[in-house]
Order: sequence, then C-alpha cells, then structure tokens
Amino acid sequence: MIKTVLNADLHCHSVVSDGTLTPEELAARAKANGVELWALTDHDEISGQTRALAAAKAQGMQYLTGTEISVTFAGQTVHILGLGFDHENAGIQQGLRKTRGGRGERAQEMSEGLAQVGIHGCYEGALKYVGNPELISRTHFARYLVESGVCADTHEVFRKFLTDGKPGFVPHRWASLKEAVQWITEAKGIAIIAHPGRYNFTPNEEFAFFMEFKNHGGQGVEVVTGSHTVAEYVKYGDMAKEFDLLASRGSDFHSPEESRIDLGTLPWLPGQLTPVWEALAHRIQ
Ligand code: AMP
Ligand code: MN
Ligand code: MN
Ligand code: MN
Repeated sequence: MIKTVLNADLHCHSVVSDGTLTPEELAARAKANGVELWALTDHDEISGQTRALAAAKAQGMQYLTGTEISVTFAGQTVHILGLGFDHENAGIQQGLRKTRGGRGERAQEMSEGLAQVGIHGCYEGALKYVGNPELISRTHFARYLVESGVCADTHEVFRKFLTDGKPGFVPHRWASLKEAVQWITEAKGIAIIAHPGRYNFTPNEEFAFFMEFKNHGGQGVEVVTGSHTVAEYVKYGDMAKEFDLLASRGSDFHSPEESRIDLGTLPWLPGQLTPVWEALAHRIQ
C-alpha cells in the first residue's frame, strides 16, 4: 500500500558542489519531471540554498533546505543528509566550512597519485570543471579522466581509479558522525543516512552505524535513492521500521550525461513507512 504519494525529490547536486547544472536549471528540470517537493543537497555546502529556494518558488514547487555532509565513520566515508534546517544558522555554516577544508591539498595529492601511474595534469584538468573553489571533488577528476580519454565514462573512472586501493585514492578525515548530526539538528533540521546500500559495512558494522546515528539524534534513512536496487528499497524500508526512522526519497541526480536516474523519476516510498517530509511539514517553504 502506498502511504504518501507525493513526488518529493530530496537529494541532488548543483555546480555549487559536483553537479553540472545550476540551482535554477535543476529546479526547472525537477518541475518538468513532476517534482512537487524539492531539496538541493550539495556536498558540505549550503551557499546554493537561497538560489534554490527562489528557483523552487519561481517554478511553483515546495522546498526544503538541504545538504549532504561527508563523515568518517569506522574508517569509511559515509554521507549524512540534512533537510529542513535553518541555513542561516552559524553552527552548521561553520561546521560545513571546516568540513570543506583540506579538499585542495587532497586534490593535489590525488593528482600526484595519478601522475605516478602516468596520468599527468589531473589537478589542473579537474579544476576546469569546478564551480566552487572550496569544493574540488573526485567527481571533477572523473570528468577530466573522461574528457582526456583515459576512461569511457565516470563510472569506469570510479572502478579503476580514485577509490580505496586504486591509483589516485587519498584517504581523508571528514566530520564525525556526532558533529554532522548535531549541526543539522541544532539548526532545526533532520539528519538522514544517505544511500546506506553504498557502504561496505559488515552486518555488525551497519547495525553499529545505525545505532550510533540514532544515539546522536539522527532521525531518518534514505530508502528510495538512485544507487539502491529494488531489494535495497525493501531492506532499508525494513531497517527504517526496525530502527524507528523516517524514510526519505531522492534521486542523487548530478548530471544529465552521468546520472542514470533523473530528478523525480524514482518509485514511491514503500507503504507503512513514515516519509521524512511529514515530520518536516513545518519546515517546508
Ligand atoms: P568526494 O567528496 O571528493 O570524495 O567525491 C565523492 C563523489 O564522487 C560522490 O558524491 C559521487 O558523486 C562520486 N562518486 C563516488 N564514488 C562513485 C562511484 N562509484 N560511481 C560514481 N560516482 C561516484
Ligand atoms: Mn557527488
Ligand atoms: Mn552521497
Ligand atoms: Mn549525493
């Protein structure tokens, strides 16, 4: 049974992080695809929020503020979405600024790692794709490796490079789980585990991750998202119920050329889950 059939897409990226479209272009695309409630969730960055809200209003869509925070947990990078927070809150602004720090040096080291396997000029190449100087990411390197003919597409890049054990990978220490959840909740938002199916946790580690997330005040989990399989919709729907978490839905759209799932086109949330937007009704703009 479908509980709440609202076309909510609460996860995507603009040129303010590693997407290729502007907030205005994303809003127009979301509207064209039937999205009714939208959130822009740039990585570690909320400077696109004012534009995104204005663009949503211009398109006649409802809007929730958003971000996707990079977190180091048990030696792995995980992502925590924040939705419905006050984007003028000083705590979340400072926390995200701190989280963005170190990306430039990391990028230089990534470039050195790629040079060691004979691929040169990647730092300068990646910079051509960067929309926000504080947010050079692996995605920008991936675009350069495609442009220069090293790989056919960005998915091949992440299979061969830039991931743990592969050339160009540089471990990085992001925010702690506790910090990320606190920044969001203290700014009146809700913290959500992004795409849990993407992490390489053992069942015990995954249980510990969910427990610790809850203990810090985390309240939601992304169930229907671009990188989940249908089996993962079921698995994480069950985990939402087991851990008494709100459920979220978001495409994680980055680019018309790269993203397999377009804005607003995912299946609905499975029935019997409580959609995160019900708990955020008072924060919708
Ligand atoms: P960074 O924050 O610099 O570590 O870059 C992370 C971004 O790289 C993610 O948000 C995705 O956009 C992209 N990414 C990471 N792993 C993959 C993958 N396996 N396939 C496609 N994109 C990926
Ligand atoms: Mn990304
Ligand atoms: Mn992510
Ligand atoms: Mn994302």
